[in-house]
Amino acid sequence: MSKKELHFNSKAIHGGQQPDPAYGAVMPPIYQTSTYAQTTPGGHKGYEYSRSANPTRTALENALASIENGNYGLAFASGLSAIDAVIKLLEPGDEVISTNDLYGGSYRLFLQVYEKLGISFQFIGMQSVDTIAEKITEKTKLIWVETPTNPMMNVIDIRAIAALAKEKGLLLAVDNTFATPYLQRPLDLGADIVMHSATKYLGGHSDVIVGALVVRDKALADKLYFLQNASGAICGPMDSFLTLRGIKTLHVRMQRHCENGEAIARFLKSHPKIEKVYWPGFEDHPNHDVAKAQMDGFGGMISFIPRGSSFEDAVRIVEKLEVFTLAESLGGVESLAGHPASMTHASIPKEEREKSGVVDALIRLSVGIEDSQDLIDDLQQAIG
Ligand SMILES: *Cc1c(COP(=O)(O)O)cnc(C)c1O
Repeated sequence: MSKKELHFNSKAIHGGQQPDPAYGAVMPPIYQTSTYAQTTPGGHKGYEYSRSANPTRTALENALASIENGNYGLAFASGLSAIDAVIKLLEPGDEVISTNDLYGGSYRLFLQVYEKLGISFQFIGMQSVDTIAEKITEKTKLIWVETPTNPMMNVIDIRAIAALAKEKGLLLAVDNTFATPYLQRPLDLGADIVMHSATKYLGGHSDVIVGALVVRDKALADKLYFLQNASGAICGPMDSFLTLRGIKTLHVRMQRHCENGEAIARFLKSHPKIEKVYWPGFEDHPNHDVAKAQMDGFGGMISFIPRGSSFEDAVRIVEKLEVFTLAESLGGVESLAGHPASMTHASIPKEEREKSGVVDALIRLSVGIEDSQDLIDDLQQAIG
């Protein structure tokens, strides 16, 4: 049976992998080398210089392509450098329509780096496709979607936007960091590019900074590969190895992230000292139907607002947590708590932030794979 036909749980382990040709090593060795001996000028075994390609990175890139049901994977030095490569497909004068409630670093890259180079960005709520259609002009080239959104957990209908993008001849890129391909496969829903901060769930152990792109189209893959090699923000061999190792347990970890996420979301929702909980698995979540249709589960990312709703209330709770670590990032085996207004989203002006619901009291949890009772007890003592 070809590895392409395997189920997801098997692809996470075997997808795009084969024993190393040198000695049959089951895990690809960490090819910690910059260059490769040639027998005659141009006479090499497919590798010349490790910015262009490295066998450990190739193994990771093949795994990425496999789990996202794509044909080509590209591994970058960080999620942001992967996004950077996508924006470099554009030219001055081009316009991008982006989710309004998105990763703070993406917002900063778009506005503080690319806007001054002549690319313009519109940030809008994407719960309705009509809103997007209204913003398209002849200069629009790319739609940038993040779903579930960060940190408000809105869910955006990828299939509907893909149909619009196709009709208008636009590229659709989806940041799939929060859902991972275990829960959502954007290429199957019609997107052209899937992007990951593999730093998060794909790596899964809070030990690397890595980014990824996966596409199906050869011409698009060639352009992105050109940019990856020309700009040079590649994923190194050690980080490629660690990320590949992480992917091999993605399905097992995600299953537990989902179970724990649900237990904690329901605990918070029933807690008298909690005002509001954002998690797409709730039946009364405004996009629950879309989430149910396009995702295979609801993940372990949750945001909530404590009663009282002040900056100080939120800070007091995150400081008191003991099992949850107060830290940036998400998607690791350990549970993390964050305060978006002062941490991940501090680079977005308060007024912009609050328009999309990121108020000062909002707390974001990345629920890990510990025992859920310990996590609930920890939240209980911190909320008081
Ligand atoms: C972390 C993150 C990024 C940026 O990735 P880095 O690996 O930190 O560069 C982009 N998008 C989302 C949704 C993220 O969580």
